[in-house]
Amino acid sequence: MAARIIDGRAIARRVQAQVADEVAALPRIPGLAVVLVGNDPASEVYVRNKVRAARSAQIYSVEHRLPANASEQQILALIRRLNGDPHVDGILVQLPLPPGIDALKVIEAIDSLKDVDGFHPYNVGRLAAGAPAMVPCTPLGAMMLIHEAIGVPQGVETLMIGCSNIVGKPLAQLLLADGATVTMAHKLTSNLAEHVSRADLVVCAAGVPGLVRGAWIRPGATVIDIGINRVADGQGGSRIVGDVAYEEACEVAGAITPVPGGVGPMTIACLLKNTLQACRQHAGQSEAA
Ligand code: NAD
Repeated sequence: MAARIIDGRAIARRVQAQVADEVAALPRIPGLAVVLVGNDPASEVYVRNKVRAARSAQIYSVEHRLPANASEQQILALIRRLNGDPHVDGILVQLPLPPGIDALKVIEAIDSLKDVDGFHPYNVGRLAAGAPAMVPCTPLGAMMLIHEAIGVPQGVETLMIGCSNIVGKPLAQLLLADGATVTMAHKLTSNLAEHVSRADLVVCAAGVPGLVRGAWIRPGATVIDIGINRVADGQGGSRIVGDVAYEEACEVAGAITPVPGGVGPMTIACLLKNTLQACRQHAGQSEAA
């Protein structure tokens, strides 16, 4: 059996095109501020891709760079300035922040209505309470792929591997809101193989290459691989792989996301979607004022 490949690139293109159409119909251009502190090479690539994608959807996007030795006060002062800037609808602080900076304090300083990453405790709480919230981009994108693959996962036996604040926990909330039966696994979970073999939907965000083996997967299950891991390619270079042993999994799963080309492109598409949402909320607020 060969799994159906869930083409995240194609679906992300569709979402981006829809955002661009909706942006074109707005009375003003949405603004996205991306804050990068330091020069972590992976963060630089992520920020560049986010800014480029925003611009291609006609979102006014500005990158704000601070040096690696910037103080917490400097970062907070920049956030306060962006909070008060009427041209900025969305603020994204690229994580991780350099050592010594309290990331939660920085995220809490962002105006929760401009929190396009959905990491502010206000949005985290609203999501957990089942209220409309800014939903983190990767979980939102992963849910869209799940909907494309199997529809609403109501009553579906689901295993969420990884329970970070930015991926696993919010994604579990979204799955619960859809009526899935969710088990959470993490690095202290014993018998991961057994949990995987019971699931009809396996979602993995652990950051461990090849963690989920093909032999563990229930035949026909849907596999959403969120992991992004750089590994040696055996020829002196490197390549990107997910958390699932892909070739093995393709033999057993019913549908699977590739890495790269699965959840990754959806993350950026959902950032644009959230910026559009923030702009609409912002416009509604100014009209009400
Ligand atoms: P994290 O390190 O914050 O959390 C990892 C989680 O996985 C933890 O809950 C941990 O307990 C669990 N885990 C670790 N080893 C495990 C094991 N052996 N068995 C079971 N659980 C285990 O990581 P994160 O920020 O949530 O990211 C996870 C992965 O997703 C990384 O590879 C990251 O690069 C990737 N990621 C991808 C995107 C995207 O756009 N596709 C976005 C964010 C993160």
